[in-house]
Amino acid sequence: MTYTIPVELTTNPRPRLDYHKQAFGTVFTDHMFILDYDAPQGWHDARIVPYQTIELDPAAKVFHYGQTVFEGLKAYLTDDERILMFRPNKNIERLNLSNHRLSIPALDEELVLEALKKLVLVDRDWIPSEPGTSLYIRPFVIATEPVLGVAPSLQYKFMIILSVVGSYYEEGINPVSIYVEPKYVRAVTGGVGNAKTAGNYAAGLKAQDEASAKGYSQVLWLDGVHRKYIEEVGSMNVFFKLGDTVVTPALNGSILDGVTRNSVIQLLQHWNIPVEERALSIDEIVEAHRSGLLAEAFGTGTAAVISPMGSLEWQDEKLVIGGGVTGELSKRVYDAITGIQRGIAEDPFGWAVELDLK
Ligand SMILES: *Cc1c(COP(=O)(O)O)cnc(C)c1O
Repeated sequence: MTYTIPVELTTNPRPRLDYHKQAFGTVFTDHMFILDYDAPQGWHDARIVPYQTIELDPAAKVFHYGQTVFEGLKAYLTDDERILMFRPNKNIERLNLSNHRLSIPALDEELVLEALKKLVLVDRDWIPSEPGTSLYIRPFVIATEPVLGVAPSLQYKFMIILSVVGSYYEEGINPVSIYVEPKYVRAVTGGVGNAKTAGNYAAGLKAQDEASAKGYSQVLWLDGVHRKYIEEVGSMNVFFKLGDTVVTPALNGSILDGVTRNSVIQLLQHWNIPVEERALSIDEIVEAHRSGLLAEAFGTGTAAVISPMGSLEWQDEKLVIGGGVTGELSKRVYDAITGIQRGIAEDPFGWAVELDLK
């Protein structure tokens, strides 16, 4: 099936400046994609229009009951001027899993892929070319029906916006300090922790604030039932290298199924490095640190790709990991994934999706 998505070009294109030097998520391109939903018609009226504000009724359900989901992926410009996206189908699949959990009607996955590609092509001269830069793609759905009443909305908007982003690592990869959160929890199994939905992030702000005030850059969440098993960090999944084995928390329903996480697991298997998805307690990490087994730890997510953890603060003890410097495996995984994204490394799984520029 092919879709024709009408495009209304802006009459007022903005100048192309060094936007990638500005803070993450602050600079948006000239166009956006919109698709509407209402009960009799279903999803309809796909279109690309000039980037603009939208008007919503104050009673729109998204404002009151948080019925909304989002995604995040990137497009990259290669040195030979090709445009690549990294595993966009995984994000689109996950978008529908999040929709399902939030009782939002499913989107046509082929239409979403077509919309992603077409919008990126319309704004292709916004993709920065400097090393490490990219175009961040933010698809999202909001419930727009203007009715106060806790029931799934009968109206929605699906939109895609694009933001110019710089290199996460201007000064090279530097390990971050992590606060293992003893008081607050992010999500519990059976809740919405495995959906990319707004409430999870609102729920985490207070802990993040308090950890920042103490000088830590991120919070590591423990499970909400036992307050013992490691979940994830901010908007990243986590991996620990214990001796020769890499361990990451299993998908238990309360953490997100990250595309980067999945890619790291497949790469490790491809390299014959033992990798385990299982429950991993903070006590096991403390024990591994004491016995000298905790070699490396890193977070994985679209924004940073790999973010090494230099230390963990837990119950007034600071566990320094790998001497506080970026480990060999963290670097190897980072180079492999960013190499595929930039079209300069072997892509054994066919993860890079090239846009047709014709
Ligand atoms: C988006 C996100 C991740 C990382 O997912 P990627 O697909 O790798 O970007 C991990 N945890 C949470 C809570 C997230 O929101």
